[in-house]
Amino acid sequence: MGHERTAAIVIKTTDFGESDRIVHFFTREFGRVRGVAKGAKRSLRRFIGSLEFPAHVDLRFFEKKTSDLVRVETATLKQQFAGIRGDLEKLSEASLLLEIVAFATGEHEPHRPLFDALVRGLTLIDGLNEWERKGPGVSRLLETRLLSLLGFEPGLAACVGCRKPLDDILHPVFSIARGGVLCDACASGERNLLPVGRDTLRLLAQGIRADIDLLPRFTWSPRTAREAALLIHPFAQAQLGRELRSLRFMEALARTVSP
Ligand SMILES: [Zn+2]
Repeated sequence: MGHERTAAIVIKTTDFGESDRIVHFFTREFGRVRGVAKGAKRSLRRFIGSLEFPAHVDLRFFEKKTSDLVRVETATLKQQFAGIRGDLEKLSEASLLLEIVAFATGEHEPHRPLFDALVRGLTLIDGLNEWERKGPGVSRLLETRLLSLLGFEPGLAACVGCRKPLDDILHPVFSIARGGVLCDACASGERNLLPVGRDTLRLLAQGIRADIDLLPRFTWSPRTAREAALLIHPFAQAQLGRELRSLRFMEALARTVSP
């Protein structure tokens, strides 16, 4: 309670009354925080670009015991992520990452490793060249990394039924319901299984531990990138127990880009 200061990412901003805005942040020290930025609609100078998704800011706020909403005092821009804001595909991926974080974390529940991974992930997306070639792979790895940090790590290295190592499984399949790979024996009788290449599973598994800055170096083919999306997106929605709206936007965008 009282005056607080933390690094934060802007998740969402909505207008509130004549001149105020309500801002949703994911902060490093306090988890998700919602605040009122007084006069933010009129006085653009006080919050230059710093209340727009997905800005990384140095946030100062005041918290009252009697209110769920904090009072945003200042939000000083650390990173604007112009590369993300200027590219619809990068923007849709950033939205998806923030949507996962917003769904899976509580207000005032800090998760510093998650915050740090998110900032590094957004920084990577922001500056990534050759997005068309590298973007899909990097995106799936970042999604898998954030889900793992949130406690939703997919079982990729061995059968989640009997622990048989991936290398010993003849025809690996991924079970959305079980949250991981199944061997031939454990898969019998199971429904909704996705056949998936060993190479795709290995790429995703390595991405969970690799340094985030190294993720663009992983080599994806159109098939492994497609398989990773078919696996990780339904997995994320099943684990979170809800539909991710950014995925719909992402799919609509993909249809526009390549009809
Ligand atoms: Zn098994």
